[in-house]
Amino acid sequence: MKRIVIGGCSQEISTFNPVSCQYEYFSFKYGNEIDVDSRGKNSAYAGAINELKKEFKDDLELIFTYDAEGGAAGPLDHDAFIRISEEFLAPIKNITGKIDAIYFSLHGAMGTTKENDPEGFLLEETRKIIGDEVPIIISLDLHGILTEKMLKNVNGVATYHTYPHVDFEETGKRAAKIITNIIKNGSKPVASRIKIPALVRGNELITESGIFGEQVRTAIELEKHPKVLSAGFHICNPFTDVPELCSQGYVFTDNDIPLAEESVKKLVGNFWDNRHKMQADLISVEDAVEEASKLNGPVAFTDAADAPSSGASGDSNEIIRFMIENNYPHSVLTSIVDPNAVSKAHELGVGETINIGIGGNLDKRFKPIMKDWKIKSISIQENLDMENWKFILNPGKCAVFEYNNITVVAMTNSIMMVDRTIFFANGQDPKNFHSTIVKSPHCEPEFYDEWVEKNFNVDAIGSTSANLVTLGHTICERPMYPMEKDTEFKPNIEIYK
Ligand SMILES: [Zn+2]
Repeated sequence: MKRIVIGGCSQEISTFNPVSCQYEYFSFKYGNEIDVDSRGKNSAYAGAINELKKEFKDDLELIFTYDAEGGAAGPLDHDAFIRISEEFLAPIKNITGKIDAIYFSLHGAMGTTKENDPEGFLLEETRKIIGDEVPIIISLDLHGILTEKMLKNVNGVATYHTYPHVDFEETGKRAAKIITNIIKNGSKPVASRIKIPALVRGNELITESGIFGEQVRTAIELEKHPKVLSAGFHICNPFTDVPELCSQGYVFTDNDIPLAEESVKKLVGNFWDNRHKMQADLISVEDAVEEASKLNGPVAFTDAADAPSSGASGDSNEIIRFMIENNYPHSVLTSIVDPNAVSKAHELGVGETINIGIGGNLDKRFKPIMKDWKIKSISIQENLDMENWKFILNPGKCAVFEYNNITVVAMTNSIMMVDRTIFFANGQDPKNFHSTIVKSPHCEPEFYDEWVEKNFNVDAIGSTSANLVTLGHTICERPMYPMEKDTEFKPNIEIYK
């Protein structure tokens, strides 16, 4: 009987969000809950579980341990991470008898207030428990930062080949196939990797239409070779400022170092030459507001710099501040995380006016907008279904504030703002406004793009700004493009056995 352990831990953070995130921000699955919850889902777990069951049939015992999944946020409070890591490792310590392999579903862009490589830590600690003989295979998001510590402690990696991500299940399946190759065929994984000193962002990273698709298509092509176990390209999350933040490609082969070397060179291809194109095309707040004021509308302002789905605080008021200061003539709808303002609104009640500073109470890049805000509505919003994605949103207590032509949907907890859920839940339809501020780098077209006159991709400040040089990296290796425009790249192939 083959005994394979399955667990995971995933989160993606923005180092530049000053609000650290706590244990409560995670949801947990224990033991068989991982199996039950994954059924019928497009998830890495589902892909791995189904593939292993298909390959090993009755000769298989799956041992489910623990899964912790946190939404994108600021750095994880280190004590919270210690607690999570203990919970992660405890069921592995408790396993008795031999095990044949471990599969972990990870993201790769975690960071705590003290630890720059939480996934590397979890893998190293797991290795200490299980010894050198048991293969550990992981799956990662292509925004994950694949570190040396991770590579030293795993025997295989499978990475998403799509952005926006749709191949969750497929990636789990590819991870499981590495396990099958090791157990059934006796494969001996070796890895090659090339790190590239460039951070990238923008539409060219959309794998179906952008130039980054070249790397992904090469990876998929390489994986067809019988001796290539996996190939992947990480653009990494530019907001996770850790020592090994960079772009990188890797290839795992079955004990064939020359093939791994040759393949990874092919994989990296023109990425470096294309780095200039893989930067966001943004318009200044001033220019966007000025142009929009002349349009009939409706218009959208994409404020990706304050996207909670990328790890930002969600409390930017920069665009509405500029609009208020410049007498913007149209109606505006925005969303802001502001627990204090919401709490005050719930104390006072609907119809009252309150002199309070809204927004900018969490991330000090922004300053609260002190005005006489009218309380239009209050509510408690829990377990909201998103428009398309299968996640549940819990903004908690909400309040709608109005000041002249500006309507603010304020909430207690940061949530993903990749669709219109928070607006609808609070009785506000973006179609009833001239201008809507959208705190997400990309939205599905029907939410805005299909019916707005123009969507301005704004160069606002914020902890997830696509204008990467404004973020203030202090930890990642330098020089790094685009922070240092004259960064040089000499490909160096690292080998991991
Ligand atoms: Zn991602």
